[in-house]
Amino acid sequence: MGDVLALERGGRASRRRPPRTAAESPGLKALKALAESYSYAAIQREAAAGKSAVWGGWSWDSPLIYACDTIPIGYDQLWFDDSRKSEAIAEDHFQVPGEFCSMIKAMIGRLHSDRDNNIKRILHFGSGCEPISAVLELAKRDGYDVQTVETVTAFRTDEKRAHGIKLLVSELQRIAVWLTGKPVDEDRVAVEIRRKNRVIAKVKRVLELRARHPLYIPGIHTKLIFMGANHMFGAPETYADVLDTLAAELEQLDEHPLPSTAIPLVLAGSVGNQRLFDAIEESGGAIVGWVYLGTNQYDETLPPLESLAHFVLDAQGRGDLGEAVGASVAYRRILVEEEVRKTGARGIISSSITGCPYASLMQQLERDHFSGVSVPIVTLETDVHREPPTEEQITRVKAFIEMLS
Ligand code: SF4
Repeated sequence: MGDVLALERGGRASRRRPPRTAAESPGLKALKALAESYSYAAIQREAAAGKSAVWGGWSWDSPLIYACDTIPIGYDQLWFDDSRKSEAIAEDHFQVPGEFCSMIKAMIGRLHSDRDNNIKRILHFGSGCEPISAVLELAKRDGYDVQTVETVTAFRTDEKRAHGIKLLVSELQRIAVWLTGKPVDEDRVAVEIRRKNRVIAKVKRVLELRARHPLYIPGIHTKLIFMGANHMFGAPETYADVLDTLAAELEQLDEHPLPSTAIPLVLAGSVGNQRLFDAIEESGGAIVGWVYLGTNQYDETLPPLESLAHFVLDAQGRGDLGEAVGASVAYRRILVEEEVRKTGARGIISSSITGCPYASLMQQLERDHFSGVSVPIVTLETDVHREPPTEEQITRVKAFIEMLS
């Protein structure tokens, strides 16, 4: 067993952690409220009142976007609601094959149905998912102003080239002019980088504490914490306070270790669906490690735009922002293996989106590798819709965890 997991020795009922639901935790309640305040609907209202907003720009590039006084909107808001309707538009109007990635279908359908709305600018990174580039080409026909940051790749950190950094810096300067009509104030970018680094450090602390008490913060809330590490829900200081509250709650739990009967697991990717997270916990599983989005820091010693360029190329080289930045499909496996070693997890739940060409290859590599080194793994394919998963998926998860107990 790894050294970060606080398991109760002997499993005495008297030492079990006090019962708690998400509704009873001030930190979890505040996290949920903050996430709800950062919805597409809320940002649309702000845009109608004159605030600048853009689709994209919520990830490695968010310090630049905030320095341009613009709200970055995560693509995930495109399938937050009405995803079935959007999917139907994609299949019927755009003739996207039914078996293709539900994220792509929801994006293209929602952008089409919202083409008369007031948020018409889209920012994309050319090194990311290629099908998204195709979606955005079609969105141009619906009147969207799409800007793509030039493709730059460094599959290993030591492959970073000076001209690649220079190109990204000039691209970021171009994006700032597109957003604001004037060159970016680099001092503002530096302020935003420092602020984001401070928040990322808090996220890292909460995730480390959560690894000791994985049942305290449910999977669906943990996913929100990861997402917030990128865009901070448009309210960095509020998010920082939420993280402090959660850290304080988790620190109080050390006297109430996790029951020794819990099965420690590593999760790879975003399972996304509440019911699947429930199935994991109902079966006695505890997600003690999660490979999803990294918690690495920006280099504050570099000029700010160079710092952003280094950050994204380093993320490619580590794989910690995945396909969104064009990382190699081979990297998630390496991160998962590291997490298993660190946490002493007994099994892996590997998730991907059905019909994603990138993820299917990644999952196959994971399946082959972990079967070869005798680490139990179950692979799940999910979609972006909010309906509960199939009974077959739930049964597979439960059977897998039962097998490990
Ligand atoms: S799931 Fe795959 S195909 Fe779909 S948007 Fe993401 S990377 Fe692209």
